[in-house]
Amino acid sequence: MPHFSKLAFLDRDGTLNPDPGYLNHPDQLALFPGVPDALSRLRSAGFGLVVVTNQSGVGRGLIQPQVLPRIHARMNELLLQAGGVTIDHFAICIHRPEEECDCRKPKPFLLHQATQIFSASIASSVMIGDRISDITAGKRAGCRASVQVLTGVGQEEARKMLSPLEAPDYQAADLGAAVEWILKTSQD
Ligand SMILES: [Mg+2]
Ligand SMILES: [Zn+2]
Repeated sequence: MPHFSKLAFLDRDGTLNPDPGYLNHPDQLALFPGVPDALSRLRSAGFGLVVVTNQSGVGRGLIQPQVLPRIHARMNELLLQAGGVTIDHFAICIHRPEEECDCRKPKPFLLHQATQIFSASIASSVMIGDRISDITAGKRAGCRASVQVLTGVGQEEARKMLSPLEAPDYQAADLGAAVEWILKTSQD
């Protein structure tokens, strides 16, 4: 594993790609406009790129577990085709909410685990996602910033945010705008 001093935790569905609902085939995957460029900018600024995704469709029997690596290989292929950089690590929870596992967002487990894998500092890392559960995971983990994108279900989720643990540090129209704010407010 390469070493990164800081990571960008990226929600997948609704943040990097449109969510068709239980995406279960590589051919269904498309990236939002601007995503390859935004990820390249994060990497150039020193962030390792870690997708953190809840895929309860696996636990529900709607997504075959072996298709996830194919979908993620396709994501990296699309990123490379667009002249971008690839994702460094995919952290996945496959459980249903009722299973009350330790890894499903809003729990911060997968974020902490990834920082250990890369020997990164959580306090320098950032979380970007469209759901309240993404923001809460970033805040619980101790990220420098948790940014909500208004793509995916972001607009609906923004109307539901009530507690401080649910309030993002910044709301951005899309991943590109989120990255612009993160780089502008970066100390290092
Ligand atoms: Mg999402
Ligand atoms: Zn889990």
